Amino acid sequence: MGLIIPWSWVRSPLALQRSRSRLDERWQSKRRPPGGGDVTIATNNFFLWCRVVYDFAERLWSPLTKGLKRGSTDFMSQLSVRDITVKFGGITALDSASFDVEKGQICGLIGPNGAGKTTLFNVVSRIYDPTEGSVEFEGQDLLALQAHEICEVGAYRTFQNLALWKGLTVLENVMVGAHTTTSAGYWRSMFKLNTKKEESDLREKAYGVLAELNLEDVAFHPADGLPFGTLKRIEIARALIGSPKLLMLDEPASGLTHAEVEELGSVIREIRDRYQLTVLLVEHHMKMVMALTEKIVVLNLGRKIAEGTPAEVRENPAVVEAYLGSSK
Ligand code: ATP
Repeated sequence: MGLIIPWSWVRSPLALQRSRSRLDERWQSKRRPPGGGDVTIATNNFFLWCRVVYDFAERLWSPLTKGLKRGSTDFMSQLSVRDITVKFGGITALDSASFDVEKGQICGLIGPNGAGKTTLFNVVSRIYDPTEGSVEFEGQDLLALQAHEICEVGAYRTFQNLALWKGLTVLENVMVGAHTTTSAGYWRSMFKLNTKKEESDLREKAYGVLAELNLEDVAFHPADGLPFGTLKRIEIARALIGSPKLLMLDEPASGLTHAEVEELGSVIREIRDRYQLTVLLVEHHMKMVMALTEKIVVLNLGRKIAEGTPAEVRENPAVVEAYLGSSK
């Protein structure tokens, strides 16, 4: 009996394999032990091919199990947060929170103080380990990675209270954001062994990113002493230089003037469009959130109480009672 296999079933695992191979090559080039690389590569290739066979078999099997398996209905979401629970001693900061973010979407995460927004953000960016639940980014288990590894899958974040080096220039601060994309390691960088070309390329790239955010005038200025709004944009530039797929912004509007908030909103939309980013935004500035996002997830006391478009969330009685109403 003949078996007809759709081309897309064959093509998708191979495309996945190719992108995984590229990622693994980057890892191999960093981790390859001196003189012992061939065995490592052969072993890795064996496991890569095992994964291709496994992916292909899974493709054949999934239509039969459709409806039984969660992944089959969530295929379109890029970031998938499932049943995340975080407990700090007796405090339940997050209680089984779940949501999805689609590729290219700007998703707002809102809620009153203590709702669990920062905790959730810190779980996704791997600073906190959840007590329960899972986080997948493009099908990859983010919880299996450590905080310093998430940029390898294209996830970058900014910080609520800024995390810039005050003594470095703005340009140097931005260059730091690309450290995982360079080939020079600790010792080579320390003693500047054959790093000149790479460093000058990086400097040029950093300057280009600063220019795109209209920050070229402060490129050679120390970060210390610059206005808060400018520093917030420098943090975004530092994330952008790593070529993110997912940009996580933690309260980018806090401490900004009205005019700066408006400007920042336009910058975020512009960079999303230009770089085709997915953005996860934790923010209290409701005017900005309502104007900028396509989807909003609302947390209260660690639980998700609503999810939808800005218009849907604005009209939701539970959200009005827990959050929006109380701010009037
Ligand atoms: P805000 O808008 O004020 O930043 P939030 O929604 O970000 O609030 P979280 O900071 O995530 O809320 O805090 C959720 C709950 O977890 C709070 O009760 C908080 O006190 C608690 N919490 C957060 N981090 C820790 C921690 N490291 N240790 C103990 N409790 C914590």
